[in-house]
Amino acid sequence: MTARLTLVQGDLTRQHADALVNAANSSLLGGGGVDGAVHRHGGPDILAACRALRASRYGRGLPTGQAVATTAGRLAADHVIHTVGPVWSATEDRSALLASCHRESLRVAAGLGARTVAFPAISTGVYRWPLDDAARIAVGTVRDALAAAPDDFDEVRFVLFDETAYGAFERALADRG
Ligand code: ADP
Repeated sequence: MTARLTLVQGDLTRQHADALVNAANSSLLGGGGVDGAVHRHGGPDILAACRALRASRYGRGLPTGQAVATTAGRLAADHVIHTVGPVWSATEDRSALLASCHRESLRVAAGLGARTVAFPAISTGVYRWPLDDAARIAVGTVRDALAAAPDDFDEVRFVLFDETAYGAFERALADRG
């Protein structure tokens, strides 16, 4: 059975899920927005795990479009999956990188056996990606990934911080039925 694709308005760091996806930056050492909230509410174990990744596999940082998992610390999840969204560009099409964030995060989640995964609206904050376009890419990519691996997940949830973001994802979800 294909996993459910759901939307909720709220704070990612208050969600119960097997894995929470963090809209990180490539330093993996914390930032604002979702990233700040993940570290604030998740506690120091997440940052310690990120530092260890910087010292080992990701000396130059996590490349845009890739994803890597750490502990979820004190959050109500087993894992945080950090992914780096592309910064919006009006002159260059970076959609493939935004799609990759979603695909790679789900690939990492499946590898961990995480069946319920919650995503924020990656790249739509500090990275300025227009909401409707980001929602279309996010929903389309997750839909395709779920169709390709129908048994891997129970639920993929988009957690939208405000009504505007929720509306954009709602439209994207309605678009292709
Ligand atoms: P990026 O750098 O990828 O743009 P941001 O964290 O700046 O990431 O923003 C991504 C989206 O997450 C924005 O739409 C922002 O409003 C939203 N957001 C910020 N904090 C939270 C939170 N605690 N839970 C869910 N969404 C959040």
